[in-house]
Amino acid sequence: MSRRRPWAAFFGAFGPFILGCAFVAGGFAAIILGYFGVSGTVYVGLQLPYLVSGVAVGLALVVLGSALVMTHALSRQSRLLRRLLAEVQSAEPLDSQGSQGLNGNGTVLVARGGKWFHRPGCLLLEGKSTRRMDSREAEAGGLTPCRLCDPVVPAEA
Ligand SMILES: [Zn+2]
Repeated sequence: MSRRRPWAAFFGAFGPFILGCAFVAGGFAAIILGYFGVSGTVYVGLQLPYLVSGVAVGLALVVLGSALVMTHALSRQSRLLRRLLAEVQSAEPLDSQGSQGLNGNGTVLVARGGKWFHRPGCLLLEGKSTRRMDSREAEAGGLTPCRLCDPVVPAEA
């Protein structure tokens, strides 16, 4: 049984954010250490390299860390946006792909080898080969609804 562990899902969602914060903290630490390096060095010739490398590494880490945090925040935003868009789109009939949408018979998408089923347009399906199936079929096959896109499983009519 290769069930997805809760901590793995947690770190998958917040890993970049934690890493980004760690980078920013490490960057400031490097800048401070750079200054201490300057005051603690007797040789004047070594002061500048200490300061330059400390500040350069520190700034690089701060920039990298902020970028990670920003990317994480933006991806969360766009995830919400996509979910909203998917809901709007599934409320209207889709005739371009010949599908009936989610309001028909509960068509969901499953990534190859995946354990979750998704509503069309889910972020987790990006770049993956998927196959269409009925949501009842997916549940019968032991698949669980995605926690991100939360595909609606219609009750038996
Ligand atoms: Zn999903």
